[in-house]
Amino acid sequence: MTRYIITVTPPTPNGDLHLGHLAGPFLSADVCRRVLLEQGHDVIMVCYSDDYQSYLPRKAGALDRNSADYAALMHRAIKLSCELAEVSFDHFPGTKDNIWFRNSVEHYLNCVEEDLSEEQMCIPRCPKCQKWGHEAWGRGACNMCGASSDASQCENCAAKPDPQKMTEMCCINCGEAMEMAHQDAMVWALGRHFEAIAQKHATRGMRENLRTYLASWLNDTKDRWQITRPGDAGLPMERYSGDPVHTWFMGLSGYRAAIQEFLNQNPQRGSFEDWWSPHTEVVHFLGFDCSYSHAIGYAVQQHCDPNGPQVGRFLTNHFLKLDGDDFSTSRGNAVWIKDLTGLYPIDSIRLFTLLHAPEAKSENFSLTEYKRWHHESFLPLRNIMMSESEATDPKGSTWEDHPIIVAYRQAAQLDSFSPRLMAEMVMEFASEVYASLPTQRESGYRALRELAKPLMPTLGSMVSKDNVNESA
Ligand SMILES: [Zn+2]
Ligand SMILES: [Zn+2]
Repeated sequence: MTRYIITVTPPTPNGDLHLGHLAGPFLSADVCRRVLLEQGHDVIMVCYSDDYQSYLPRKAGALDRNSADYAALMHRAIKLSCELAEVSFDHFPGTKDNIWFRNSVEHYLNCVEEDLSEEQMCIPRCPKCQKWGHEAWGRGACNMCGASSDASQCENCAAKPDPQKMTEMCCINCGEAMEMAHQDAMVWALGRHFEAIAQKHATRGMRENLRTYLASWLNDTKDRWQITRPGDAGLPMERYSGDPVHTWFMGLSGYRAAIQEFLNQNPQRGSFEDWWSPHTEVVHFLGFDCSYSHAIGYAVQQHCDPNGPQVGRFLTNHFLKLDGDDFSTSRGNAVWIKDLTGLYPIDSIRLFTLLHAPEAKSENFSLTEYKRWHHESFLPLRNIMMSESEATDPKGSTWEDHPIIVAYRQAAQLDSFSPRLMAEMVMEFASEVYASLPTQRESGYRALRELAKPLMPTLGSMVSKDNVNESA
């Protein structure tokens, strides 16, 4: 038995959870959790509320609401949506004024202290609104790919843009051009550890586009990252005269704090020292645009903290589109988990979402297509899974080494993890069993329910037709 910690990148608490989130890290992480538990491992899955995100005060301001109260409300909404989707976190705490969180941030600042220095930085600023363009308040062209981006991380190419090299920076508040201004900030020379973490990444399976991304960024051993953002959101630190450390530095702190708080409340699950140790495996699920903070920033933090878990696995996803357009909370272009789970069984939503999971590239979701698929594919599949064959096979034939099952098992391995492929194999296997000899079907249905378990928790756990009818 191995201890596994699974982490999911926190959604900004400026809106509820939508299908884009589910198709991204949330559902894949939950499938991974169920696979590992089934294998007999001990697993804790955590997320946290990203209460220090720069976009939160902007959204709350636009709604004329108190930022902290609004985040707390959205945090509750997000947790309920996870519950409805049967994405089961062990702990999903808030971080605002959370002492475990602050302690973890202090912990990692101490771990990397010798690579930190105060420097004068040149940052875009709106002369009219006095807003700094660190993240939420400024937008321009990414200096790496040219796409529209904030100065924090580019959603298109996942770069950490260079604010000095970005062009057309404008203020989100008034629309005017921003001008460059100086401020003193803490800068982290994390690049000096890149060779060491490249070696660790080399031993881990990951999706090809992350491998390519890391190869290019980890070349730059002089890379530096500004970690305080005076005048913007973040956790104010006394050691930096009250300047806030931005949320992207603090993600690993969020996961660590969630584990620590959870174990403090549930001591029967083990001690924090047992869990937050080099013997524990960590699997991170994240949007590809968070690759820099996670697979580089947090990997270096882990490297500088030999008593904690070592650099783990990073499972990235791209964006799900809605009818060809971006999911957007602000424009209301979204399919909300609460709406969909009120209309369709969660197994159906989960399976369809997995079949369209944007693992290696962007994918599209269409509600019309989903409704058709639900009737034409899911309902027949459900009937197959609920069927019991009358005939039994005298040879007791099993489907053990069927190529589809072999492919499924490969997709369930962490180094080649693909819940999307697992879902595809479930669909293929169902057709195969359906087309098989009546005597082979009983064991086929049983094998199918086993394969379906982590993807479709309700149907997968059905044993007989009676049980299905009871819970339907
Ligand atoms: Zn870019
Ligand atoms: Zn302005």
